[in-house]
Amino acid sequence: MEQTLSIIKPDAVAKNVVGKILDRFESAGLRIAATKKIKLSREDAEAFYAVHAQRPFFKDLVDFMISGPVVVTVLEGKDAMAKNRDLMGATNPKEAAPGTIRADFAESIDANAVHGSDSLENAANEISFFFSQREIC
Ligand code: ATP
Ligand code: MG
Repeated sequence: MEQTLSIIKPDAVAKNVVGKILDRFESAGLRIAATKKIKLSREDAEAFYAVHAQRPFFKDLVDFMISGPVVVTVLEGKDAMAKNRDLMGATNPKEAAPGTIRADFAESIDANAVHGSDSLENAANEISFFFSQREIC
């Protein structure tokens, strides 16, 4: 059984499609082990995306991630990390396969609806960034 972290980003929360996106995960056989709606501070977003600190889009990415609340979720199930990445679709929604979350709910590479951990090591770090052990059931 694997766990991975999902973030429903400010654009999708503002569009009121949180339930529709969580349904994609459950319908694909993943379980919600923990979830909460939070507003990231600038420090939170900079730390979370530290790997991209030198990229030209870093400031825009941080500004976007703190522009409104997000919903962070621990997803659990067989191959949860890869399955979530498949459900999300490509980073750029214009390149995302039909039926993926980004194809259906995202507008642009900046406002692309969801984040998902991209390795098991990152998943473990990202889960502990947002959740204490007793919040994960
Ligand atoms: P995420 O980490 O949010 O799940 P991802 O793993 O598909 O997305 P990354 O390469 O990790 O993509 O990029 C992190 C985020 O930075 C992307 O979701 C996107 O919003 C933004 N981003 C990535 N590449 C670009 C780019 N070339 N121009 C603008 N924004 C970008
Ligand atoms: Mg990424």
